[in-house]
Amino acid sequence: MKYFIGNWKMFGVPRSINILNKINSYCLSDKNRNKYKVVITPPFTLLETFSKKFKNKKIMIGSQNCYHKEKFSADTSAISPFMIKKVGSKYTLIGHSDNRLEGDTDLILNDKVKYSLKNNLKVIFCIGESKSQKKKNQTLKTLTNQLVNVLEKKFDMNNIIVAYEPIWSIGTGKTPGHSDLLQTITHIKKILKSNLKDKNPVVLYGGSVDGNNVSMLRQIKQIDGFLIGGASKSSKKFIDIIKNYYR
Ligand code: PEP
Repeated sequence: MKYFIGNWKMFGVPRSINILNKINSYCLSDKNRNKYKVVITPPFTLLETFSKKFKNKKIMIGSQNCYHKEKFSADTSAISPFMIKKVGSKYTLIGHSDNRLEGDTDLILNDKVKYSLKNNLKVIFCIGESKSQKKKNQTLKTLTNQLVNVLEKKFDMNNIIVAYEPIWSIGTGKTPGHSDLLQTITHIKKILKSNLKDKNPVVLYGGSVDGNNVSMLRQIKQIDGFLIGGASKSSKKFIDIIKNYYR
């Protein structure tokens, strides 16, 4: 099973549901539709309406983040995994580099994953090295730490998808070369299997994915799908990625 996950970030108003309607219609007419899942993470303001509208549809809805406490608390502006689940969302992104930069530590991320799983949300856990870590040849070490410092053997790994997103590739138009990316994805899967007892690791790539570079990226069969930022805000660009993946 492949995944095409769109992260809208700070984008979208109620009528942006038209974008999802178009993607959904395309998927329903696509002969390859049973080979992949589509998840979109709109901002919190749209989570409930989109989740309800796309209940039992091809597209599934997730949140872009969650708070690190389970249910209710006196934390202004916080939204818990419990609240996300209760409006009908199925997934949550955790550990996006935007949120790590805002102060999400491994300890906080561990709580986010733990409480999301407890509330039956599927977790898309983002990891990725910075430009300077890459320059210093610290990519694999960084990714290993990000995985083992947050995930636990007792977590149900069937409900965790890992998204490898090199920070230097997000929104820059740059993607890793074929052999680097293959080596990195293979390493992540190895760590998930050996350290976290994940029998069937699911690892996505994210960072400047579009309808053009997906033709190169699809050659790496070890990649189980994509986390797509900018190109997920246009139905055409998002559909082009799916089309070109299966061409
Ligand atoms: C992201 O922020 O998760 C992302 C992958 O963005 P983009 O596709 O725009 O690089």
